[in-house]
Amino acid sequence: MAVPKKRTGASAQGHRRSNWKATVPETTTCKNCGALVLTHTVCTECGQYKGKVVSRKAEGFQEEVEEKKTKKAPAKRTKKAAKTEESKVEEVKVEEVKAEEAQTEEPEVKPEATTEDKAE
Ligand SMILES: [Zn+2]
Repeated sequence: MAVPKKRTGASAQGHRRSNWKATVPETTTCKNCGALVLTHTVCTECGQYKGKVVSRKAEGFQEEVEEKKTKKAPAKRTKKAAKTEESKVEEVKVEEVKAEEAQTEEPEVKPEATTEDKAE
């Protein structure tokens, strides 16, 4: 165990403790009822957070809120996944363009075939 080499004097102790202060907690007013609320916490008066009823004890609490929580959140997109998706989209676009070109060529061929059928 580390042991201090010398005893800290009263002066050093006082200097250290002078920096130990109480801080005022960050507070806001509730949008619904206007009560003083700690930031990023549910209002204790009306049970709302960000305009939604979150607390079970509060009036108007809907179970739908819990159902939403159970649903699996979509996986976060990583940069690699986004890049691969973009490349896939580009490939699909190229295929679509090729298909459109093929379709545009077909009607030109068909009238000739019909004329040939009529000639026969
Ligand atoms: Zn409130």
